[in-house]
Amino acid sequence: MTQEQDANQPLALGILGYGGLGQAMARLVARRRQVQWVAVADRKGYVVHPDGLNPSLCQRVYQERGSVGYLEPGGVLSETSIAEVIAQPGVNAYFLALPNLPNTFIATVAQQFLAQGWRGVLVDAIKRTSAVEQLLAMKSSLAAGGITYLTGCGATPGLLTAAAALAAHSYEEILQVQVTFGVGIANWESYRATIREDIAHLPGYDVARAQAMTDAEIEELLNRTDGKLYLENMEHADDVILELAGICPRERVTVGGVVDTRNPRKPLSTHVQITGRTFEGKIACHTFTLGDETSMAANVCGPALGYIQAGWQLHQQGHYGLFTCAEVMPRWVH
Ligand code: NAD
Repeated sequence: MTQEQDANQPLALGILGYGGLGQAMARLVARRRQVQWVAVADRKGYVVHPDGLNPSLCQRVYQERGSVGYLEPGGVLSETSIAEVIAQPGVNAYFLALPNLPNTFIATVAQQFLAQGWRGVLVDAIKRTSAVEQLLAMKSSLAAGGITYLTGCGATPGLLTAAAALAAHSYEEILQVQVTFGVGIANWESYRATIREDIAHLPGYDVARAQAMTDAEIEELLNRTDGKLYLENMEHADDVILELAGICPRERVTVGGVVDTRNPRKPLSTHVQITGRTFEGKIACHTFTLGDETSMAANVCGPALGYIQAGWQLHQQGHYGLFTCAEVMPRWVH
């Protein structure tokens, strides 16, 4: 199946996963003319409209009934929504806003695209090093299958990793890259997968344990911590992505932060510090700090959309395979 696009047509975008980030991406895309949102799948259903989907309507149906499959007309309720939506023609690119639970889930979704002979652009905002490594192992199959896959294209990894890759060029040797994030959200239910995956990094927890927790157990944990998660030395793919880009060994990259699940105000300013030695032998540190007013949704979905556009340009030039956020510059979408 080929998903080629008329040069004058907007890029037809599908979104897999319609939780916090999936919904934010749909709202963001509605404000741009070069990209049109045409397909979405959640755990219980999917809908495809070649003329474009309405984000307010889809969000209302999803919030009131639990799935976009209830949307009239066109919604389909299905336990195999991903496989069925992949089979629909006319989608050039997909943003994968799915939980990576278990830690192999996104890789199995990529396998599914390959198995169904789908060609186009896939962009994820995956977080764990081991998850990116699973995709790396699929690089040649993706290339042979005509898929241009960009991984780690959210905020961290993503925007901050790409900023570090750019800032590194002032130096001859990169000594340390330190990502520190502050996330503030009004309630954890808006970003269930994000919070569950963050809990998996706490001492004593892992992905399987976090995945098995009931909502009540998550609430109980958050009650004990006043809604905050303190995370340090996380297994975060910023390290493998910077290593692959040839910037520094992964041991020199650290990621940590604080997530407040009860207040949209950030508990601290998200920043990345890049320490290195210049060719004149001076040690220095660059700091790139995100504006406190920017939300997680803005800092994940904005860059991801830019990478979708970049991926589409690569795809049209016949470049297939696996790329990371540090190898490709996101492109502006009008
Ligand atoms: P969420 O829990 O709010 O939503 C997940 C969505 O996926 C839901 O619509 C659910 O119905 C759907 N889904 C789950 N299983 C499915 C299945 N088998 N088939 C079809 N749909 C399915 O998720 P979120 O909080 O928006 O997070 C999405 C992902 O983004 C997470 O993996 C998270 O770690 C990642 N993330 C990355 C960054 C970054 O900076 N890189 C930041 C935040 C979140």
